[in-house]
Amino acid sequence: MVERALQKMHGTTRGKFFYAQNRTVAIRPTDARTPKMGYYRGAKAGNDYIYLNPNDERFYDESTFRDLSKHAGEIPPATDEGRAAILGHEFGHVFGGIDENLGGRNVRDNENSIRSELSRPDAVIPLRRSVGGHQFRVDE
Ligand SMILES: [Zn+2]
Repeated sequence: MVERALQKMHGTTRGKFFYAQNRTVAIRPTDARTPKMGYYRGAKAGNDYIYLNPNDERFYDESTFRDLSKHAGEIPPATDEGRAAILGHEFGHVFGGIDENLGGRNVRDNENSIRSELSRPDAVIPLRRSVGGHQFRVDE
């Protein structure tokens, strides 16, 4: 499931940019020690890790799902395309992306660009307009 989503992401403009950086990113399953999905930088060597919940069709852990459910209309479909957008968010963090609730543009530049590129008339992926309880405009 992860591999197919990575391939979809790789097919997008943003995904091609990520892959062109030639950076090693380890994808790991969430577990009792790291229950929350997302991007982590290793404390010792500074390695890059993306943790994903292998038991969820969007890689979400319970707390992530609860947070995102506040804007349920923005949750991407549980398809390879939707999962590619979710990966795009986390890869955005690998390359320095900062979320909008912290003053950055990670959702707009990395996640939404993949959402719109992979959206099709018969399988629309809505744009995301909120992160961490913060709402933002998608047209700026
Ligand atoms: Zn984020």
